[in-house]
Amino acid sequence: MGATLSDELALVPWWTTFVLISTYLFGSCIGSFLNVVIYRVPAGKSVVHPGSACPQCNHPIAWYDNLPVVSWFVLRGQCRHCKAPFSFRYAAVELFVGLLAVGLVYRYGLNTLSVSHFVAASIMVVIAGIDHDSFLIDDRMTLSLAVTGLLTQLAQAYETGAPVWQGPLYALAAGLGAFGLLWFIGRMASQIAGEEAMGGGDAPLFGAIVILLGPAAIPLVLLLTGIQGMLFWLLLRSRGGVGQHEIEHEDGWTPSDRHLPMGLFLVLAAIELQLGGSAVVDAYLDFVATLI
Ligand SMILES: [Zn+2]
Repeated sequence: MGATLSDELALVPWWTTFVLISTYLFGSCIGSFLNVVIYRVPAGKSVVHPGSACPQCNHPIAWYDNLPVVSWFVLRGQCRHCKAPFSFRYAAVELFVGLLAVGLVYRYGLNTLSVSHFVAASIMVVIAGIDHDSFLIDDRMTLSLAVTGLLTQLAQAYETGAPVWQGPLYALAAGLGAFGLLWFIGRMASQIAGEEAMGGGDAPLFGAIVILLGPAAIPLVLLLTGIQGMLFWLLLRSRGGVGQHEIEHEDGWTPSDRHLPMGLFLVLAAIELQLGGSAVVDAYLDFVATLI
């Protein structure tokens, strides 16, 4: 009783600190790469060639100007050569993915489970970024997430000594059920609204997330997505909306300020559950208990 934070920190072996710092640096470098994927894949460009360049003056960005998070602040968010502004989002994604890696290693330990969760989270960050920018969810990325989700279930069984096939099979069945459930909800909502109420990529993404997190995640992901999407929508409304998006899909559909990128909120909910897991479940059950 009464151990202070500094007491507890003093008990942390130096190598734990070393592992967490290394994990952060590794994660933020992956975040830097994910930025490139988010910007280049929708444009049909290669993610490896050419190297980073200023979108304004095309001057190649030197390695020392391309350090995750740090370089953005050193350059005060500007190109070194032409002073064109670089979005804070680059640095924010790098910081977020770095902290995400630390959070996952902190929760699961340095093992196959944290690695597969991190791969899944990285795919989800890309899906969320592209959905935010263009209201599109790439089916190939959703499929990659589903496969990584199955591998994560296998890692879970491996790390906990559970029967190898039981968890992955339940998760796969639940994922298919979740896909069908959200697809059905989307059809019903579209019937009532008299227009497409939900993008075609949202139900498969929900299915892939449930494969990753298991059957128990179905109500939680829906609940968190609904609450956070609604709060964000109300916040936008109170600020007068975002105006018309400058996006047009191949079929001529254009999102209005009533549309939210649902994939972004599905991913946010999924990452919260990856990090929070049982704590979120407990809070949820406590909340339900206060209602009945
Ligand atoms: Zn420039």
